[in-house]
Amino acid sequence: MDFEPSYMALVDSGEIDERIEKLYASLEKCEICPRKCGVNRLQGEMGYCKADANLVVSSAQPHFWEEAPLVGLGGSGTVFLSNCNLRCVYCQNSEISHGGEGVSMTPEQLADSMLYLQRVGCHNINLVTPTHYTPQLVRSIAIAARKGLRLPVVYNCSGYESVETLKLLDGIIDIYMPDMKYGDVESAKLYSDAPDYVEVSKDAVREMHAQVGDLVIEMDIAWHGLLIRHLLLPNERAGSLKVLEFIANEISKDSYVNIMFQYRPSYEAFEFKEISRPPFVEEYNVVLDMARGLGLHRGFPNL
Ligand code: SF4
Repeated sequence: MDFEPSYMALVDSGEIDERIEKLYASLEKCEICPRKCGVNRLQGEMGYCKADANLVVSSAQPHFWEEAPLVGLGGSGTVFLSNCNLRCVYCQNSEISHGGEGVSMTPEQLADSMLYLQRVGCHNINLVTPTHYTPQLVRSIAIAARKGLRLPVVYNCSGYESVETLKLLDGIIDIYMPDMKYGDVESAKLYSDAPDYVEVSKDAVREMHAQVGDLVIEMDIAWHGLLIRHLLLPNERAGSLKVLEFIANEISKDSYVNIMFQYRPSYEAFEFKEISRPPFVEEYNVVLDMARGLGLHRGFPNL
């Protein structure tokens, strides 16, 4: 398949440089994400996510445990970013997301890592928890593109995104892969310290879908579009039905939805009795039936 990533048009026209300028300007009184902390990250101040102007990366390597259309034979070129704009009590990577473990890299160095991931045969550049580093990451993409990067970029995020920032990513990101963690406001507040998560994530996913549409898979590889993840929590604590209803009724019944069954309590989850166990298979089957009943049919077992 002949494929040219979206960002090449903006690189060729030079518009990507204007976007980078606008994104960096947002760091001066940071409103990159919905927390809108207002700190001057360019002067070394830190807000909720504990990130300043430095790009901190935990790892950049081929990864084979993502969704099958991202992995193919060559793997997904994952770049794990340190820090996070959510505080999930069940975080699986708390040392990285909350503890900030990782190494400082310049956008130029990360661009070279992206080119390395392309050289070793990865099918995409998969930016994991990218939100708070959007300006630095777009700069890396522009540098890498000018040196020959031609892979689609995956924006693999928590769904807690600012629509204004997403608009500056229009035409740069080929695949949006947001979580839709909660359909229930109380859970979002209690487990992720984000009482506005439900509405914020809906607006973000609407914007993402408007930009890229449903997921396009050709030759078993994802090239473009929206891939939504929903992590099943025990005791219906994720509000799964509300999430699935939103996707089916307001986004598209052709949405690719990975309903994830891998929740295991970790970090501070044991302090919350109702989420201190994995979900049961019966709970998973109920949610799969809900999805099928709503007309969703991609991304989960559809027997
Ligand atoms: S990116 Fe970080 S500093 Fe900026 S608004 Fe979000 S949490 Fe606050």
